[in-house]
Amino acid sequence: MSRQTSKCPICKRRVKRDAPDFPFCSEYCRFVDLGRWFGEEYRVRRQTWKDTEKKNA
Ligand SMILES: [Zn+2]
Repeated sequence: MSRQTSKCPICKRRVKRDAPDFPFCSEYCRFVDLGRWFGEEYRVRRQTWKDTEKKNA
C-alpha cells in the first residue's frame, strides 16, 4: 500500500505518486523548492505561502 506514496522532499509528509504536485505534497512545497534557488528570498515567500495554505485547509 505504501508503494503508492513517497515523502515530500520539503516537509517529509507522505504524498501520492499521482498527486498533481508530485514529488511535492503541495504547490506550497514545490514553490519552496523552487525558491531555494533564490536564496534569502525563499524565506520571505515561505511565510507568505504558509499563511495561504492555512487559509485553504
Ligand atoms: Zn510538502
